[in-house]
Amino acid sequence: TKAGRRPLVAGNWKMNGLRSSVSVVEAVRNGLTPAIHDAVDVLICPPSTLISSCVAATYGSPIAIGGQNLHAKPSGAFTGSISAEMLADLGASYVIVGHSERRAYHYETDDGVHAKALGARRAGLCGIICVGETRDEREEGRTLDIVRAQLAIGVPKGATAADTVIAYEPVWAIGTGLTPTPTDVAEVHASLREMLGRLIGPEAEKVRILYGGSVKPSNARELMAVENVDGALVGGASLVADDFLGIVNAYA
Ligand code: PGA
Repeated sequence: TKAGRRPLVAGNWKMNGLRSSVSVVEAVRNGLTPAIHDAVDVLICPPSTLISSCVAATYGSPIAIGGQNLHAKPSGAFTGSISAEMLADLGASYVIVGHSERRAYHYETDDGVHAKALGARRAGLCGIICVGETRDEREEGRTLDIVRAQLAIGVPKGATAADTVIAYEPVWAIGTGLTPTPTDVAEVHASLREMLGRLIGPEAEKVRILYGGSVKPSNARELMAVENVDGALVGGASLVADDFLGIVNAYA
């Protein structure tokens, strides 16, 4: 742990997985040792269609199951949408909020992220609020301005470590095999921690800030060793049990 923050390794399956993929969750469950459980929180966010079966497959284990998105409202005439209450009702305990793919393909705004984070909290879910710059924004030297603004608007007043996790995911690092240097990651995470302090005060020291974007077993240890990195949000590598376990093991 860093400064008393318990690490979290979260898998984001995105739009991948049929019913047969529940076997991946079973393999992760079987591969986790008590020592790993003592050291790190493990979360898997499958597509909503698999949440029930993944909750059942992890019953009695410390693996948490989460959603990838939510509608901000609790219920209503919003065809195709899923509320935080519905996710909680299935046994989910986390939900990803404002992933860059939602921002890019579903036009989610920082204000929308804020509303969704409030929705997650209302239903007792922990919201994983994602921020990150595009390649152009990094090249223009705007990374810190971008992620700080996303944080300032997205994070609700009174957010706590119990209801909020932050994920720094550079858009150009997602699914590309590219990662920022440890020095770059350290700079962004320190800046996010400082901004969080302005937003929520001393509680900021307890909130976990994950790194996401091309995390693999081969780079997990180096990335996780960076100051203010409290875990990982893993896409592609979370679809393969051995790869995901390899990343989780970076904490063992
Ligand atoms: P990746 O995705 O690990 O496949 O790069 C990360 C994410 O989008 O959360």
